Amino acid sequence: MSDDADIIGIDLGTTQSLVGVVEAGFPILLADDRGSRMTRSVVAYGKDAASPMVGEEAWRHRIVEAPRTVVSIKRLIGRRVNDSNFPVRPSSTGGGHPESGGGRAGFSPAYPQTQLGSVRVAPGPDGSLGVVIDDRWRSPVEVSAEILRHLKGVAEAGLGRPVSRAVITVPAYFNDAQRQATREAGRLAGLTVERILNEPTAAALAYGLDKLGERSRIAVYDLGGGTFDVSILELNEGIFQVLATHGDTQLGGDDIDRLLVQWLGEALPQSPGIPSTPEPDLLTSQEQARLLDAAMEAKHALSFADQYEIRLPFWRGTSSFTTILTRAEFEVLIRPTLERTRGLCRKAMVDAGVTPSDLSAAVLVGGSTRIPLVRQLAAEIFEREPDTSQHPDETVALGAVIQAGILSGSLRRVVLLDVTPLSLGLETFGGLMNVILPRNTTIPARAGEMFTNAVTDQPGMQIRILQGEREMARDNWTLGEFEVHFEKGPKGSARVGVQFSIDADGILTVLARDTKTGQDQIVEIRHAAVDVTESKVEEMISQSVDHAFADMSERQLAEATLKSHELLEAVAAALPLAGDALDGAARAQITTCTDGVTAALAAAELRRLKAANQALDAATETLAAILVERALQEALERRLG
Ligand code: ADP
Ligand code: MG
Repeated sequence: MSDDADIIGIDLGTTQSLVGVVEAGFPILLADDRGSRMTRSVVAYGKDAASPMVGEEAWRHRIVEAPRTVVSIKRLIGRRVNDSNFPVRPSSTGGGHPESGGGRAGFSPAYPQTQLGSVRVAPGPDGSLGVVIDDRWRSPVEVSAEILRHLKGVAEAGLGRPVSRAVITVPAYFNDAQRQATREAGRLAGLTVERILNEPTAAALAYGLDKLGERSRIAVYDLGGGTFDVSILELNEGIFQVLATHGDTQLGGDDIDRLLVQWLGEALPQSPGIPSTPEPDLLTSQEQARLLDAAMEAKHALSFADQYEIRLPFWRGTSSFTTILTRAEFEVLIRPTLERTRGLCRKAMVDAGVTPSDLSAAVLVGGSTRIPLVRQLAAEIFEREPDTSQHPDETVALGAVIQAGILSGSLRRVVLLDVTPLSLGLETFGGLMNVILPRNTTIPARAGEMFTNAVTDQPGMQIRILQGEREMARDNWTLGEFEVHFEKGPKGSARVGVQFSIDADGILTVLARDTKTGQDQIVEIRHAAVDVTESKVEEMISQSVDHAFADMSERQLAEATLKSHELLEAVAAALPLAGDALDGAARAQITTCTDGVTAALAAAELRRLKAANQALDAATETLAAILVERALQEALERRLG
């Protein structure tokens, strides 16, 4: 069927979304009936409308009915109520009951809820965050599906034929739950999601198209409406490899808008002629919408002009508000926010093992990279003029289209490799993190480890799947847990292989296989128990650096402890076998050393324990030699006899 041949590429952005397809060998982006290739990622549930409005129409609707208009739903997708990094606190008005109507929304404390407009955020039955409109709770999957359905419609109208398959981009730092939720939204919109693609990877794919062949490393700096991503990639004869990636899903143009709205909110009451209201810090949602519009207009203008006059005619009846904002003032306001990208870029370069001079280009993408201060910062960070050759709004979508074209076979094959953002591993004896797939492993990837029973007839063992960079298991995140069963048998006889595999979408599957019975046990980490926010990833990495020494000595202590137990067990088993061959002095020496180990174990001091282990090791040399000699003797006698 012809509708199965096309795969569309979608950039599902926080603020803007785009769709395209490869037609006659060329990646193209499709325009809607207004002639626009960009669709605002906004969904409005009109009071009487049968189906929700999406895009520009929905954005306009928010002036009329802000509490029914959902913006930036991407900030909520795959997130849970216990997610400490969520920037918009779930509103507690009405003790868990949806607010009914009422055009007024809280303008305090400190921040207006611009990220989600005036729509109430609340946890759903399973603890995941969603929005409440009228009395109905809607999941971000449901809302995102409306945007995707709209984009599917744009594509179908543009192509004149139905489409059912798609590639959708997500920020590199989206965790598993967020990727799964995005995939689910696609499914709900009637699309088979062929690939979830990281946005910076998509941008690099678009950037590299006409520059293939040169062996070069580039940085992709993507500052959009809601998220920031930076990746270091290597382009090499048609092969892309992401060497490292860092990001923050709570950093983007929205934050700048919020700063500006706040600034305006503070400037307003001080302006002569603006009557003070009974509740000065409460603005109607309509007023909030007007402030946000004014803020965005000013922000966009200041990318090109040195100053801008903000006008709010007929603000509160007949009084108007006018003020001039210079680019210099604007930059003072936003610099601290933008500075946050510096550390993330540095970390990405360190992880990739590159210095700025190793890079052939620093490519800027995302609408917010139009801001001159962003370009200036990028120039400082990467020590070069940033590459602004890519269309800031369209590059990611173009990359999604190219990936879709590769998958459908309408573009020549380019291999695309991505990396894991954090290490994945298992908890082993002594509470240690045993890394199976290190951070920044190229995906898809597969690696494993063999497990056996530590004691005779052990029925099984608990396997804990971990994610993180710390040495001790307890400091990492638990993604899942399952029990591996062993066949009855002597110590060390069981053979269970545990394999980690990450597919091209970054989804982890853990397989446990009893190599004796051939029985498999599969655990798919779909809705990860932890929702890893990007700032938490940041925190994890910086903590692993901060605690590197403490962690290392704790690991060494755990390892030395394991060794002590092994030694004590072995000595206890061997001593009775030695008989008269071992003289009293040697025996006494061994006993002294065993006591030394036991005491050092109790003290839990690394140096002392290591020394005690060493002493015991040395003291048992004769014992070991006797046992070896005896074993040889016995073997010889068996042969001869
Ligand atoms: P996303 O992928 O997160 O949806 P985009 O890459 O489409 O974001 O960028 C959207 C952001 O870019 C918005 O915050 C928008 O205000 C901002 N933006 C667009 N044009 C300009 C401009 N001229 N100056 C500053 N910011 C801009
Ligand atoms: Mg984007």
